[in-house]
Amino acid sequence: MTQAALSIDLESYWHAELLRAKVDRERSNDRVEEAVRPLLEMLAQRGVRATFFTVGEVIEAHPDLIRDIVAAGHELACHTFTHRPLWELDEAAFEDEIVRFNALAAEVTPGVQPRGFRAPTFSLSPATSWALDILARHGYAYDSSVFPMKTPLYGIPDAPLAPYRPAANLVDEDPAAPLIEWPMTVWRVGPVTVPVCGGFYLRVLPMALILRGLRQAAKNRPIVIYLHPWELDPGTPRLPLPARDRFITYHNLGAPMRRRLEILLDAFSFQPMARLLADLTGSMPVVRG
Ligand SMILES: [Zn+2]
Repeated sequence: MTQAALSIDLESYWHAELLRAKVDRERSNDRVEEAVRPLLEMLAQRGVRATFFTVGEVIEAHPDLIRDIVAAGHELACHTFTHRPLWELDEAAFEDEIVRFNALAAEVTPGVQPRGFRAPTFSLSPATSWALDILARHGYAYDSSVFPMKTPLYGIPDAPLAPYRPAANLVDEDPAAPLIEWPMTVWRVGPVTVPVCGGFYLRVLPMALILRGLRQAAKNRPIVIYLHPWELDPGTPRLPLPARDRFITYHNLGAPMRRRLEILLDAFSFQPMARLLADLTGSMPVVRG
């Protein structure tokens, strides 16, 4: 059976890398409720549960929404506290992000221990892989930040495609590594790598290509999709941006993206990542020690 996980990067539109310095947060609505409530309804109607990689600032601003997400059976996971990429942080600053996130999550959703982490903008790299040791120290069991192809902003082209225990270079396997890494799903066709895993690529690539790629990839390994609630929200504010950034940020936002997500929900039966990892790993326990 196809094993597929749905992951939502739960952040405001203003956390996106190309926008985060451009929005006056004091004077703007973050549009999180407007973007997330319809998504929760869509998932509930289909009985789909997902993993929500959540920014701490969003938990702080919307504790009731977070409680509703957990009550609906979704998995709460960590997307840092402030959504700064790892290349801007040192070890102490990153640990502070995780400590603050865990403390707030414990206060808002007592008894829920976040086990999964995703770095903002897939910013985990060999230069910042110390983050994995810090995550392990704070109760995390898996990471999903490796994008196994080169893009202008991020990517580890030689990384494995299926879940693995990463060495510090993120490419080699290390059975003693403290965390499991679940890389974003790509489809390898000869020398070509197609990013069929969601987000901008789900808004831009032809749907037939994405479905074909996901089905092919799913023959060999579990697949994982990601998207942002602001990509589904027709009311996401359109800020003046250079043409290239405008295309990356706004192309097919709102109804077209919602339709594409519906097609994926029809094609695969998605589960939260921790649930699938628990089934998959067996001899490779998700929680060590
Ligand atoms: Zn993000």
